[in-house]
Amino acid sequence: MSPPLQAQPLPPGSTIGIVGGGQLGRMAALAAARLGYLVHIFSPEANGPAAQVSAAATVADYTDQAAMEAFASAVDVVTFEFENIPAESVRLMAEHAPVRPCWSVLEVAQDRLAEKSFFTSLGIATAPFRAVGSLDELTRAVVEIGRPAVLKTARLGYDGKGQVKIGPDTNLAEAWAALGAGLEAAGAGVLEGFIDFEGEISVIVARGVDGGWAAFNPVWNIHRDHILHTTTVPAPISAALGDQAMDIARRAAEALGVIGLLAVEMFVTRDGRMLVNEMAPRPHNSGHWTMDACVTDQFEQFIRAVCGLPLGSPERHSDAEMKNLIGDEVGQWLEILSDPSAKLHLYGKAEARPGRKMGHVNRTWPLGSRGI
Ligand code: AMP
Repeated sequence: MSPPLQAQPLPPGSTIGIVGGGQLGRMAALAAARLGYLVHIFSPEANGPAAQVSAAATVADYTDQAAMEAFASAVDVVTFEFENIPAESVRLMAEHAPVRPCWSVLEVAQDRLAEKSFFTSLGIATAPFRAVGSLDELTRAVVEIGRPAVLKTARLGYDGKGQVKIGPDTNLAEAWAALGAGLEAAGAGVLEGFIDFEGEISVIVARGVDGGWAAFNPVWNIHRDHILHTTTVPAPISAALGDQAMDIARRAAEALGVIGLLAVEMFVTRDGRMLVNEMAPRPHNSGHWTMDACVTDQFEQFIRAVCGLPLGSPERHSDAEMKNLIGDEVGQWLEILSDPSAKLHLYGKAEARPGRKMGHVNRTWPLGSRGI
């Protein structure tokens, strides 16, 4: 029996539709161009980072169903660099083109509660958590989980937005009010135990249309003000813990039926346990180092997976560190370009607002020279 049409590799010259117009879409579009594909971006923002380097762009809101349908009709496959898309828009697009990954993956990734319940159902540990829909429920959950804890909106939070720490003296009514608008928009909140972690790691796994998979090495992430600051590889963890982290990412990608990438962020506790924090079914900031340190980088791997191509080798040929350029740090571009060990990647954003990711710089060293 011949394989279903959708599983056939999409030939170079085809058009990949990417929903979302930021730096992840930009770097994915550049990788797609290297393999001979055209990219069509769907984004509410005109001339954003991704549209600047793509063949076509639709500028419309993610709730504009007519625009979404027209976009999906104009491309050969649809994927995402941003996962907070309404269900109905994704369903409509799927009538016109294969959508990779499919809605059921996005649905879990859009909601912290669904995400944590999903990992729990696989027997994979997360921070202790409770769903909280009211101040009363928050009060009960704080008694059960204990302080310190973190209150987060279940949906639409990123880079620490939509979360508040609950310390020994935090007034719960104030904490609830602080997230008020966010909680209203999101419909629910989640209270998590605060993890006094040794560090944070992440793993990005690619999964192809044939179910084959390839994982990048686990990396060590340092956040500042809730925003990723640096990623270092190799991560200073044991080989056994690294294997366990890769296994968690692979099992999650398989259980969800991901076609594309899945990034899984985890806390490493001081007693050597791993707790999943969150996941993203797309390229991830903690994978930018792969652009200069791997045979196949995360963006090419993403394109290969969604186009039904064979996955490339994720093998790492160098030790590496990635540092984000946040806000006006982008002003260091000339200095960075003068450093022979540095590779600069800028995103083409006009305005360097505080907290905005403007670019990143990768530094590499011979493999094994910065080992643990
Ligand atoms: P998130 O938006 O969930 O990725 O959170 C952003 C960052 O806040 C994480 O990378 C951690 O550094 C910190 N954080 C989030 N949740 C917790 C937690 N339950 N315990 C300790 N730190 C956390």
